[in-house]
Formats: sequence, structure tokens, C-alpha cells
Amino acid sequence: MLLSVIVPCYNESDVIEKTWTRLTTVISENGKKEKYDYELIFIDDGSKDDTLAKVEKMAEQDRHVKYISFSRNFGKEAAMYAGLTYASGDGVVIMDADLQHPPELIPQMISRWQDGYDQVICKRNRKGDKASKAWSARLYYRLVNHLVDVEMEDGVGDFRLLSRKAVDALLSMTEYNRFSKGLFSWIGFKQTFIHYENQAREGGSSKWSLKRLLQYGIDGIMSFNDKPLRICFWMGGLLFVFGAIYLTVIFIQILLHGVDVPGYFTTIFAILMIGGVQLLSIGVLGEYIGRIYYEVKKRPPFLVDKTNIEKEKKP
Ligand code: UDP
Ligand code: MG
Repeated sequence: MLLSVIVPCYNESDVIEKTWTRLTTVISENGKKEKYDYELIFIDDGSKDDTLAKVEKMAEQDRHVKYISFSRNFGKEAAMYAGLTYASGDGVVIMDADLQHPPELIPQMISRWQDGYDQVICKRNRKGDKASKAWSARLYYRLVNHLVDVEMEDGVGDFRLLSRKAVDALLSMTEYNRFSKGLFSWIGFKQTFIHYENQAREGGSSKWSLKRLLQYGIDGIMSFNDKPLRICFWMGGLLFVFGAIYLTVIFIQILLHGVDVPGYFTTIFAILMIGGVQLLSIGVLGEYIGRIYYEVKKRPPFLVDKTNIEKEKKP
């Protein structure tokens, strides 16, 4: 039996060696007990610091260390996809490089996996997060779950163990715009949760700016289904019905009392409101067209510059 651990790294030079040590400590011991071999796949997502150099050095010292280095920064989604493509394990663990996903949970994940679960999902609480962040996240997930078919949960991230079955299912989805949270939920299979305390980053800094978070939020809503389009449809319909009622009322008034002096408020209301709904709807349409544009180009989701994984496996 082989376990693969995939670790996307972007400018993680401060913590990468620590991550490797802690992973090795946990897994080598557990692996002896449970009789499995393991590989640690570090995906260097175009880091600008010496992450790659450190990983290469680790690979020289430890035959378990594999790496894939991208030609530039492609983002965490691409890095995870690359990891899944190159992983040859019967089970695959995805975890962050910054030790916010404690490796000490892996033995527990493995025992659940051996119980027959295909997705062992680690769920964190929001302890230590800023109240505003926790709040906005809660609000966001409530909204998203109304807008999207698949269930997405707060505190559930990419930290999980996937069985080979689940990995192959994920790889069978070759879409360019990958929104893993949605994909994980979409494939289904038998799932179980492990709860853990929120961890602070061990070093380095978070790669998430407010802008990136916002974009990620929009991705979450848009990239999963066409419900937002349907909402535009409903908004248009609703406005149409209101407009028709309003026009009828005015028309009857004109018949009864003659033409009134037209009100500034109603005019400006109609212009702004309908204009707003139209622009919003065009925006939503545009989002989908943009996604179609990227899908039809069929560009590779990542480009590999360097790797020590020999197997001929292409995305
Ligand atoms: N990451 C990546 N490519 C990126 C951004 C981030 O591979 O473009 C990796 C990063 O190295 C880390 C993980 O994704 O291992 C999570 O990133 P981060 O810790 O910055 O996010 P946060 O934990 O703050 O959500
Ligand atoms: Mg982090």
C-alpha cells in the first residue's frame, strides 16, 4: 500500500523544512505500524524564494520526497491538480505547507480510510480567526449553499484524504476552472469528518489578499452551475411583472384623470433599477462566457519546469 501526500507550496521557504520533518516523523512511524510506504510530493507553484532549492535538497536526503516545479505561479488549484495527477498512492492526502493542517491527524485519517471511507475530511473550527472573518465566512456559506447545487461547508478546506477511487473521479473532471471545494463535494462517495482546532501559520505569510478572497468567493458561486443565470431570469421576470402592473395602473389613471405631470422619482427609479438589473445580468452572462472562453481554449492547467517523478503522467 502506498500513501501519497501532496503539498502545494508557494513561497514557503520559511516553513517547508519544518513541514517535511513533522510529516516524516508522523508518517514513517505510522507507516511501519500500519505497513504502508509513502511519498511526499511537494508542488512548487512558481515560488520566488528558495522553496525549490530547499525541496531539491530534501529530495537528495530523503527518497520519499518528490517534487514538481511549475514554470510560474499557477495557483493552488492547479498545484493540487498536478499533485493528484502525479500521485501514485492508493490514498492521497492533500495538505497546506504552512502547517495549518496538522500532520498529526494523518494516522487518524488513515484508520478511517481503512474503515472504508473514500473522503476523510478534516474540518477546522474558527478559533483564533478574526470575528469579522468568521462572520463573513458564515454569511458567505449560507448564501453559496442557496445558490449552488453542491453542499459547501464552512471550515472544510482542502485538507483531506482521498481514496484512489475519489482521486480518479477528480481527475476525470478535466475542467480548466477548478473550484476544488465544489468538486470534492460533487464527486460524493463515502465521507467522514475529523474535527480539529484552527492552527496559526508557522511562518511566512498568507497568500490571500482581500481581492483574491473576493474573486474566490465569486468563483465559488459562478463556477459550479447555472443557478445565477436563472436568478437573472427571475429578476427580469419580476421586474417585468411589476412594470406591467405599474403601467396598467398609470394607464387607467390617465384614462380617468388625463395625463398627470410625470414624477421625477418614478422616472429615475425605473432608469436606475432596470439599468442596475440589466448590468448585473450582463455581468453574470459575461462571467459564464469568460469561463467558456477559457474552457474552449483547452490550455493546460499548469506547466512543469522540473520534477523528479519519472513516471510518464501527463495532465
Ligand atoms: N499556495 C499555492 N499557490 C498559490 C497560493 C498558495 O500553492 O498561488 C499554497 C500555499 O503555499 C499553502 C496553501 O496553498 O501551502 C495555502 O495558502 P495560504 O496558507 O496562503 O492560505 P490560507 O491558509 O491563508 O488560506
Ligand atoms: Mg495557510
